[in-house]
Amino acid sequence: MITDRIQTDLLIVGAGPAGATTSLFLAKMGIPHTIVDAAAFPRDKVCGDGLDLKVFRVLQHLDPNITASEVFDHQEFLQSWGARIITPNGRVTDFVQPEPPEGAPLRSVLWTSKRLHFDQFLIKKLDRRFANFLPETKVEKIERDGKRWRVQARKSDGTMLEIDTPLLIGADGDHSVVLRSIGGRSIERRHYAGTLRQYWKGVSGLHPKNLIEVYLPKGLPLSYFYIFPLPNGEANVGYGMVSELIAKYKYNLRDLFKKILTEDPNMAPRFRDAQPLEEPIGWGIPLASRRRKNFGDGYLLTGDAASLVCPTSGEGIGTGMVSGYIAAHFAQKALNNKQFDAEVFKNYDREVYRRLEGEIRVFQNLMRFQPWRMYDWGLNLIAPQPYLQRAFKNLHSGWLETAFEKKIEVNLD
Ligand SMILES: Cc1cc2nc3c(=O)[nH]c(=O)nc-3n(C[C@H](O)[C@H](O)[C@H](O)COP(=O)(O)OP(=O)(O)OC[C@H]3O[C@@H](n4cnc5c(N)ncnc54)[C@H](O)[C@@H]3O)c2cc1C
Repeated sequence: MITDRIQTDLLIVGAGPAGATTSLFLAKMGIPHTIVDAAAFPRDKVCGDGLDLKVFRVLQHLDPNITASEVFDHQEFLQSWGARIITPNGRVTDFVQPEPPEGAPLRSVLWTSKRLHFDQFLIKKLDRRFANFLPETKVEKIERDGKRWRVQARKSDGTMLEIDTPLLIGADGDHSVVLRSIGGRSIERRHYAGTLRQYWKGVSGLHPKNLIEVYLPKGLPLSYFYIFPLPNGEANVGYGMVSELIAKYKYNLRDLFKKILTEDPNMAPRFRDAQPLEEPIGWGIPLASRRRKNFGDGYLLTGDAASLVCPTSGEGIGTGMVSGYIAAHFAQKALNNKQFDAEVFKNYDREVYRRLEGEIRVFQNLMRFQPWRMYDWGLNLIAPQPYLQRAFKNLHSGWLETAFEKKIEVNLD
């Protein structure tokens, strides 16, 4: 039975990075809205906990004066100075970011922070003057009522809240109830990855510069096992593979993960004296490798609900935040014009996908690289090549020079 009713100009479902970012920018624009989340915060989210430069760039759009150290120099965040790739034959290639000159402010393009902490960091920033934030409020049913949405949500005490709104933003992650309600989409295994995460303490051989490590396991098709160092000597360890390959070879991801941890000659020795802090937890990654329609009459989808995870890196926090930033701009336009039909959002997908094109191309090329037995050979050969090292250095210095100032332009027309 409905015990409570509210009306709002805009409802965001989900307060992860995509939803929280949408709310932060709506508040900056002075737009009152409601944001609900099923969870009680702080809450965990299965993730690799790697934060790239996009995260900082979005935050800088919120506050141009914010510095990287204000955001990341906290005990819950760890700076990483690059990446280590370990090929199937065990060859280690380090891509270390060049040291900044003496006295220059420390800048890194990679950080790690448990989602428990990072998402809470965003939640604390929500501006309650404009954001009516309702945690522990789980959306269960969404119906179209003329040109409005009638949304039913269960509160932690079991009572039901009904929310009436003309504009809905789905930011509720991989199992999005908003996506289901507007017709959903079936999982396309080529564009979806199965993953596991397990926190560990005491993993040996971590690089002193906290490089994030990606291992391409021997004898397995394209998949990646990762070790991302965290503060306090902990590490986020995980494994992911495109679902199409899991299905094709009838793999059990948990068994593969366990085997790598206990038997793989390149990895097992590093875990022998380490302690797992939890059981492996599974979660899906909806990849952006296929373009989808993420808007319609009265709604926009953001983040994982819109399947926006970078298909090669598995990075979805930054892309989720960028999509939230873009969605806030389209929502502002809709509210200003009091027009909520699909026409007003028709350029949303263009704005989102044009930032992902490079990532999508790389993924498509990798997937074309079948049969997978070629991977071991190809990766062993390619990863240590000096030109890759140079490309990495150039990429990083390019990012460092421009990314801190670069504006995320949103073209609504
Ligand atoms: C193993 C693994 C490793 C990854 N590693 C990285 C990485 O290192 N770096 C990176 O950038 N990305 C990584 N990702 C991807 C990243 O975790 C996601 O892309 C990111 O969390 C997307 O953010 P989001 O806000 O769209 O969704 P989420 O973070 O999933 O947030 C969705 C929110 O919606 C709420 N919600 C859900 N249903 C309802 C409902 N019915 N009613 C109300 N609220 C609801 C949830 O409680 C949640 O708070 C990884 C993912 C996995 C699985």
